[in-house]
Amino acid sequence: MNTRSYFRLFTGIAPLLLVLACARNPVTGKREINLMSTEQEVAIGKESHPSVIATMGLYEDKRLQAFMNEKGKAMAKVSHRPDLPYQFYIVDSPIVNAFAVPGGYVYFTRGILAHFNNEAEFAGVLGHEIGHITAKHAARSQKSQLLSSIALIGGAVLAPEVVGQNIEALQQGLGLLSLKYSRDHESESDNLGVEYSSKIGYDAREMGDFFGTLKRLSDQSGQAVPQFMSTHPDPGNRFTRVHQLAKDYQAKNPASYEVNRDQYLRLIDGIMYGEDPRQGFVENGYFYHPELRFQFPVPSRWQSQNSPSQFQMAAKDGKSAMILTLAKGTSLDEAAQNLVKELSLNVLENGKTTINGNPAYVLISRQQPEQGQPQQDPRTALQIGTWLIQYNNAIYALHGLATNADFQANFNTFKQVAENFRSLNDPDKLNRKAERIVVRSTPRDGSFREVVTLLGMPANRVEEVGILNGLKADDRVPRGTLLKIINR
Ligand SMILES: [Zn+2]
Repeated sequence: MNTRSYFRLFTGIAPLLLVLACARNPVTGKREINLMSTEQEVAIGKESHPSVIATMGLYEDKRLQAFMNEKGKAMAKVSHRPDLPYQFYIVDSPIVNAFAVPGGYVYFTRGILAHFNNEAEFAGVLGHEIGHITAKHAARSQKSQLLSSIALIGGAVLAPEVVGQNIEALQQGLGLLSLKYSRDHESESDNLGVEYSSKIGYDAREMGDFFGTLKRLSDQSGQAVPQFMSTHPDPGNRFTRVHQLAKDYQAKNPASYEVNRDQYLRLIDGIMYGEDPRQGFVENGYFYHPELRFQFPVPSRWQSQNSPSQFQMAAKDGKSAMILTLAKGTSLDEAAQNLVKELSLNVLENGKTTINGNPAYVLISRQQPEQGQPQQDPRTALQIGTWLIQYNNAIYALHGLATNADFQANFNTFKQVAENFRSLNDPDKLNRKAERIVVRSTPRDGSFREVVTLLGMPANRVEEVGILNGLKADDRVPRGTLLKIINR
């Protein structure tokens, strides 16, 4: 069953469930109307998992994965729902984010793993995410939000119920999966993060410190607000609140709580940092894909988002967007037929052409409303210009999207991008390598600024490396301290 039919299933049977399912919440102990059974939660997790992986890709690191599994399992055991089939994954995204999907699926990005400074911070965030699952926050949030998020990341961006609403949603969807929880849910998850991480032996005050890192990341200009906290309460407040919760917990349950800084740093030594240029990158108004060896322009002032399954870009006014994906089919004709069928397209114009020596097929079409769906306002209905380009044993589909009203005004932009799709031959772009985190021991006492400069970091990256290390430029660092350095 794909996510789209899921969507319908849920909206269809919800009223019935409303009557039938009223159960006790495992965390609060209160009886509440639950729209999802455990089986349904697990089904949602199973259903959305392939989309999460298709969108972000898995980051392979056996040692880190083993560590995450071990801590995740230990935490599941002490949680309010020890019997869920928990699964833990590291996704290949540089963005600092962690998220959970109902049914026990927990995801950490390599970006957040690079930013933790000890095992206790890791455990606190793990507890927070497991808390969203055990307290059934997704089930208690608006179903439509959850399901549309899943549909959005499902690569189903051309699904009428998503794009049909507006392109603005698509533009916002350029971010990662973010299940929007209420402030109350976030606070509840913070409580659970403190409780669960303490129960497996970690000092939960460190979890509070990680909100300091998030705050600095969001304050840094030019840096996108980490999704992890974009809808969350102010990280400054959470810093204070979590510290207090941790102190209270430890006062009630005296024990020795671990931080394990050096162990954690050794674990992430060598982790990829920032974008992986091998999977494509934007530079000077172009998108380059070294692995697939092609390039095309990105219209000026457009925002873009790359993922293993597609590259999306959208105008800031939200009125037009473009998506590059792989087309299905072995010939241009077959690819065009598949596309028309899958997206229920009403073709207005089509024809063959050649783009920089590559055979291509152009389609201008409108999306037909799905059966049983009301006819859309023709002005807001979606028009799509598609260029299918055969290149290096693959067929790429480059879609330009706008409403009927805005399509003509944007057509030349779409055309300009598509007609400048060409092979990438520049060795500088082809051989671009990702940066990595390298853990080094400081050669002498000094301020953070002094010692990272000694270790080879340029002055304009001291703040960035400071955020990574949870340290300020003027903080004193004794000789022999392990620090994260960025290296190519
Ligand atoms: Zn949260």
